[in-house]
Amino acid sequence: MMTLFISDLHLDADRPASIALFLNFMEREASQASALYILGDLFEAWIGDDDTNPGFAPIISALADLKLGGVPCFFMHGNRDFLIGKRFATATGCRLLAENEVIEIEGDRILLTHGDLLCTDDKPYMALRAVVRDPAWQREFLAKPPAERRRIADDLRSKSQTAVAAKSEEIMDANQSAVEAAMRRHDVSILLHGHTHRPAVHTFSIDGQDATRIVLGAWYDQGSVVRWDENGFDLVTL
Ligand code: MN
Repeated sequence: MMTLFISDLHLDADRPASIALFLNFMEREASQASALYILGDLFEAWIGDDDTNPGFAPIISALADLKLGGVPCFFMHGNRDFLIGKRFATATGCRLLAENEVIEIEGDRILLTHGDLLCTDDKPYMALRAVVRDPAWQREFLAKPPAERRRIADDLRSKSQTAVAAKSEEIMDANQSAVEAAMRRHDVSILLHGHTHRPAVHTFSIDGQDATRIVLGAWYDQGSVVRWDENGFDLVTL
């Protein structure tokens, strides 16, 4: 039985090639899997489940078809689509996950997270995250008309692009102490996340035990998938 993990697709109606790659992956590969986990940033931006952007319709349909085909789909929020809510879950059949989840595959306990929580060296981002993840801020934001929300989201995105360009590579990567703390807290030796767009398998040791951190890549020019079955995992580029 094959379990699939993807993240950071950053799907956007302006980039039809990525959407086509995702739809193809859903039809050919995900439909044959035993489960699909989406670890955040499926969308480049999500301003609320009431957004009627027609560019998203094929994506929603593909997720709904997967569920109809009997493949369970799990969705974890990213820093771009943290406003995905119950209406999206109902429309797609995806089950929404918490920001840290431990699952078990073939006896391996795996901690899943989007990855932004691990980038603790990026203090301005962590401060912004605390603001936008506050339920009161979200209620106020979601009460605004879609056009205004889109303006705010675009503004946040361009500010973030400017900030990212000015930050060093290290600051935007996962902090090793944060990685180890999360793994100790959840009592796991395997961590799987995305967000940093640096696909890799890192091995190290925690308290004398072998530990593995698997990082999914983004879907800008190609896809990135982790396939997990009884023989273990494979991080592959599509
Ligand atoms: Mn992200």
